Amino acid sequence: MRLFVAAELPDEMFDALAETSALLRGCVRGRYVSPDSLHVTLAFLGEVEGFRVDGACGALDRACAPFAPFTASLGDLGCFGKRAKATLWQGFRKAGSLPELAQSVRGELRAEGLSFDEKKFLPHITLMRAADLTTGDLPMPQLAEGTVSSVVLFRSDLSGARPAYEPIHVVSLGA
Ligand code: ATP
Ligand code: MG
Repeated sequence: MRLFVAAELPDEMFDALAETSALLRGCVRGRYVSPDSLHVTLAFLGEVEGFRVDGACGALDRACAPFAPFTASLGDLGCFGKRAKATLWQGFRKAGSLPELAQSVRGELRAEGLSFDEKKFLPHITLMRAADLTTGDLPMPQLAEGTVSSVVLFRSDLSGARPAYEPIHVVSLGA
């Protein structure tokens, strides 16, 4: 199964992200991420055999144990890839403990013998895929601040019309 680990976004951020997404709809063509699927990926594992899922859950528990909930705030828009087919995202002005959390999760996955995409962690929330950024200007994104308080192991199902993310294991920070 296809797995990834993500931090859940605080409620305060969803309204801002939905507003930014609505502004983008007015000026950029592409595939929008549905608001209920927004997240910050901490580690992307990709295909993992079913019998290794317990190990991934244990790694997540250990990785998150030292962390308390923390404040983070949204920042500027950014993109990856080609301008005609970009991944468009909103970054963080204040990333709080996200970098340390990603490092901790990746370290425990490695210790468990689980591999993941090793690209350097850049905290971001993907808003659009295959975005055409060759024409026009981007709007100013809405900003918001909130408390990040949980980390989730998700299963990603790409077989349908839209990606579906199913939470497999949820860890509350500071619990
Ligand atoms: P689709 O691939 O159909 O556009 P998706 O990207 O939402 O859908 P997945 O590819 O399963 O679904 O990715 C799940 C999450 O992991 C997303 O946040 C995605 O950006 C991130 N991700 C996917 N591939 C990688 C990768 N190689 N390295 C880092 N993060 C990744
Ligand atoms: Mg993808």
